[in-house]
Amino acid sequence: MIPHVLPTYNRAPLSFERGEGAWAIASDGRRYLDLGAGIAVNVLGHANPDLVAALTEQAGRIWHVSNLYQIPQQERLAGMLVDATFADTVFFTNSGTEAAELAIKMVRKFWDHAGDPDRIEIITFEGAFHGRSTGAIAASGAEKMVKGFGPLMPGFRTLPWGDIDALEAAVTDRTAAVMLEPLQGEGGIRPIADEDLRRIREICDRTGALLVLDEVQCGVGRTGRLFAHEYAGVTPDVMMVAKGIGGGFPLGAVLATEAAAAGMVAGTHGSTYGGNPLACAVGCRVMEIVADPDFLAEVNRKGALFRQKLEGLVASHPDIFEGVRGQGLMLGLKCKAAPADLVRAGYDEGILTVPAADSTLRLLPPLNIGDEDIAEAVQRLDRAAARLAG
Ligand code: PLP
Repeated sequence: MIPHVLPTYNRAPLSFERGEGAWAIASDGRRYLDLGAGIAVNVLGHANPDLVAALTEQAGRIWHVSNLYQIPQQERLAGMLVDATFADTVFFTNSGTEAAELAIKMVRKFWDHAGDPDRIEIITFEGAFHGRSTGAIAASGAEKMVKGFGPLMPGFRTLPWGDIDALEAAVTDRTAAVMLEPLQGEGGIRPIADEDLRRIREICDRTGALLVLDEVQCGVGRTGRLFAHEYAGVTPDVMMVAKGIGGGFPLGAVLATEAAAAGMVAGTHGSTYGGNPLACAVGCRVMEIVADPDFLAEVNRKGALFRQKLEGLVASHPDIFEGVRGQGLMLGLKCKAAPADLVRAGYDEGILTVPAADSTLRLLPPLNIGDEDIAEAVQRLDRAAARLAG
């Protein structure tokens, strides 16, 4: 008999009752060091007092009003995002997938508005993950996501990850946009080199294609900059954000330049919940904390510390691990063993990690994780690796 909850996930037999910072506490009282953070969501850990206060203060006033009215919390958060980034304007969503959908719509509307409605081809890269809607799976093109869900939304072409020469050959003045994650998450913590991102920007500038960056997983301080593309010193035309921006409350956003958002006038897009007062009250508090340069400097320091310890772990388990990659606190262990086996061995050692493609184990702790928890995490990973080796 089908379970009451549609079985689209292979769930671990773990259920968590509460959390404290980087720790999740299971219903049997066992404590797990949470290096998944809800897949890069809980940027300030579990039950962060600042976020609890922001949420409960707002909850005592008003939970929800329609986007038919002014929403001051939404305007404040949009202002913070505009001030901190390339963007001139923001639309709020409830998730990364919805942000991807709007980004795709925005690209199409941009060219329609420019009098070129047939210019619809969006170039994406293998290993990309933009969500599970019909548009987002078409953008990814991966067999496991699209099989059985055809016919797919037309207009996407997928190139090998990071193949800038292939991109150079593929982008013409008929290309609508190039869309990518500056640091792939689900694809296996695979970064695009800074000089390659700069080349992609140049190719877009030369042909007029829009550059759409998906920073749903790598944004909001995760890499040690507020947004990962800042390392390359270039800016996109459109950017998707979600996960970390809500610190655990469902919230996403599309950020865009005024030019890229041309044509997105009243009636062209909408959402019942997107940018609701509860979500935006939390989002504002997340931004106040995470966008602070001192906070981001700490993410970098802790990322370097974690990475150095992980290099030691790789050296002591050469049969299990191949290397470390990523940036800031978005780290991946490239594995020789199956990442799913390591995740399971981690459960036995009281640590939560997340598998990814390309034989990678993802480590995405809260950005305010303490140094002692980083040391503890590496010890637990060491014991998990020993379990597999033994
Ligand atoms: N884009 C990226 C890069 C992601 O990592 C994800 C989720 O993992 C999404 C989009 C989809 O976001 P959501 O699951 O919030 O819809």
